[in-house]
Amino acid sequence: MSGTVVVVGSINVDVSVTVEALPRPGETLMAGSVRRSGGGKGANQAVAAARAGGACTLMVGCVGDDGDGADMRRSLTASGVDVRAVTTSLDEPTGTALITVDAAAENTIVVAAGANGVVRLDDVAREALAGADVVLAQLEIPQTVVLEAARARREGALLLLNAAPWAPLLPELLAEVDVLVVNEHEARGLTGHDDVDEAVETLLADVPAVLVTLGAAGSRLQRRGEDAVTVTTPRVTAVDTTGAGDTFCGVLGAALAAGEPERVALQRASAAASIAVERRGAQDAVPTADETTRRHDDTYGGPTGG
Ligand code: ATP
Repeated sequence: MSGTVVVVGSINVDVSVTVEALPRPGETLMAGSVRRSGGGKGANQAVAAARAGGACTLMVGCVGDDGDGADMRRSLTASGVDVRAVTTSLDEPTGTALITVDAAAENTIVVAAGANGVVRLDDVAREALAGADVVLAQLEIPQTVVLEAARARREGALLLLNAAPWAPLLPELLAEVDVLVVNEHEARGLTGHDDVDEAVETLLADVPAVLVTLGAAGSRLQRRGEDAVTVTTPRVTAVDTTGAGDTFCGVLGAALAAGEPERVALQRASAAASIAVERRGAQDAVPTADETTRRHDDTYGGPTGG
């Protein structure tokens, strides 16, 4: 392992039930079995980074002093994530997402942030950030904590900010960002432009680089004043796109921390995300490093890509 990626973000337990049709207001429904799994954008991206190999992955987050918190720590550790900077709140429960999925795969999701609202940087987090190569953050924890982490990072360490779910960004945080990662919906939400190219132009006034993920159409990295780098994604039959963006961001962070050239890092991220959409779930769908390498080499032709 040659580098370190520090993921600063949310840790949730996802509680999912399947129903014939989504409930109407006031309605009580019986569901099939309840499924509990690891979730939260931060944890999902940390798992993707750790499974990608190549770099050490440390997570900064917070869980409650409860069974879910202990389970989430265990499952992150089992995926290879260093959880020494995951703190425990005595006041707030572990974050929970309540997910209802109907027969047509339509869903409703309600998130109780719980301990994600009180994430803080402890000494272990600060030490890790001071030695990080890449810091990867999202917006399911307070932006002030992301800003604190950004400011605590080693000089020269890249800050990748995945602006998901999108919200108006603090100007001080924007000033720290090296690459803003957004999907088309987030690009539009952040700028009010329907046209994604116009949205990217607007975002480039505040950050030096914008990476837009475009689903099955791949992704595009645009640096201020430079030609865009467009990366296709492998053609697959998508079964469940949940977690595609998180897999993409986590693998990208790990590949950049490991010193991969930017285009290869983007190709590895795309290869991994294309496998994730062929499988159900979020963290469960994240591929191993070997699976990603095979898909990468089959698609882009050899270890250094085309
Ligand atoms: P999510 O569904 O997790 O919210 P997102 O909207 O954040 O995802 P997308 O742009 O949909 O992000 O997908 C991220 C990346 O995953 C894409 O850039 C692409 O590489 C890969 N991907 C997504 N959907 C597909 C697909 N149908 N086929 C192949 N690759 C895909």
